[in-house]
Amino acid sequence: KLENATLKAELGNASWKLLHTMMAKFPDKPSADDSTALKSYIHLFARLYPCGDCAQHFQKVLEKFPPQVASRSTAAAWACHVHNVVNKRLKKKEFDCSKIGDFYDCGCAEDEADGKKGK
Ligand code: FAD
Repeated sequence: KLENATLKAELGNASWKLLHTMMAKFPDKPSADDSTALKSYIHLFARLYPCGDCAQHFQKVLEKFPPQVASRSTAAAWACHVHNVVNKRLKKKEFDCSKIGDFYDCGCAEDEADGKKGK
């Protein structure tokens, strides 16, 4: 089967959006269970990502840069970094990770456990 670059790019775009938005919603002070869950999610995401060669490459990126799951800010910075590793490989522009702050917003209503308005 031929590669369809448009679909591959759309899948990537949607996947990155989900991943970064999850990081933006990850607790500032996660429980040990929260951190374990995020770490597992990232490893499973890398393993099961539908584009096979992307998955293979991303699993190698994870070996080099293990997921940082101690807090929202470390998780968000980690995801930004590994996305930049992929950007570099694909000769795309690097994203300035100091600007990640409020870039990813789930648009969900405020919930009490989170306590951040509009997040
Ligand atoms: P994307 O890279 O999809 O980014 C979407 C948006 O996120 C950008 O427009 C920008 O606003 C923002 N953004 C950019 N960089 C960052 C960052 N560092 N941190 C936070 N936000 C950022 N494609 C391949 O052809 N080969 C591969 O091997 C490959 N591997 C992939 C592995 C994974 C795990 C994923 C999720 C995708 C992979 N892709 C791969 C797809 C590729 O990364 C892009 O998603 C796709 O090419 C579409 O690119 P885009 O220009 O829309 O921007």
